[in-house]
Amino acid sequence: MARLCGYANGGGGLVHAEAAFLRRAASRLSIVDPPESQNTVAEWVNQTGGRTPLGGLWRGDTLMKTLSNPRMAGLDSEGNPIEGFGDTVLTPDEQRGLLEARAAIRGEPVQRRESYDYLLTKGIADCDECGFDLTGGRVHAEAGPNYRCQDCGKIRMDADRLEPVVAAEVLADLLRPGQHEKLLRLQQDALEEAERLAAHIKDADSRFASLKAFRDQMVPDAYKAAEKATKDDLAASRARLRFLEQITGVPLSDPRDVVGWWNTAPRASQRGLVMLSVAKVHVLAAGGGAVDPRSRIRIDWRTSVS
Ligand SMILES: [Zn+2]
Repeated sequence: MARLCGYANGGGGLVHAEAAFLRRAASRLSIVDPPESQNTVAEWVNQTGGRTPLGGLWRGDTLMKTLSNPRMAGLDSEGNPIEGFGDTVLTPDEQRGLLEARAAIRGEPVQRRESYDYLLTKGIADCDECGFDLTGGRVHAEAGPNYRCQDCGKIRMDADRLEPVVAAEVLADLLRPGQHEKLLRLQQDALEEAERLAAHIKDADSRFASLKAFRDQMVPDAYKAAEKATKDDLAASRARLRFLEQITGVPLSDPRDVVGWWNTAPRASQRGLVMLSVAKVHVLAAGGGAVDPRSRIRIDWRTSVS
């Protein structure tokens, strides 16, 4: 059997060039209005140089079958995360969104409510009142996605009001003199750190092996603690690398291209650009009445990747 596109082997190991075109294909196939046919997107992948693991051209059905494979999102056939799988081509939310979008395009009723992939969670936006990171959620099943502070409860803002103003600020900032160069510099720093981390992660096997070699000479509790520290370090390194890879993947060659890129970019890549330019988005309490959403945010621009 051919290997699964996007991965070097069955247990993971991202092939970055393949993951990149698969993510963009998934993003295009997830657009419901106007929808594109599977074959149109497959043709576009072929034209941009994407090939199947056997070197062949993609057809719409094989592309969709690949993207629907649970392992694309690091899941087993039951839909549970595979432990130690590492980086995935899609997030579970992205894959669910894709499958629901295709079902909607086929005219099938969507069984469950489409989950929303928030742009500014994961520590990007916080509550200006108490400093707690905002989380995404819905007030009730029929409500739109919104951001809220789960600590003090004073901040709540609809995603369709918050996200566009932050995106507009980020894109406008990019066109200011000197900003593009700054982002390129940050991206270069991220790239260098990512290379160091990738080497560190690759070396994990030998760290576990040398730890094992000392096992007999160690008190069991000390061995367990050392093993846990090594595992925690590996998990933290992977998480940090995933953050850095979101930043390094943003195409910055021409700042004017970035605006057009934004409109079709996968969510994870949009988030990468926001993470690259912004250290924190503070969301302010509403003063009451109809407030311009721009007056509810204050942005700390990023000056370094650390
Ligand atoms: Zn708060």
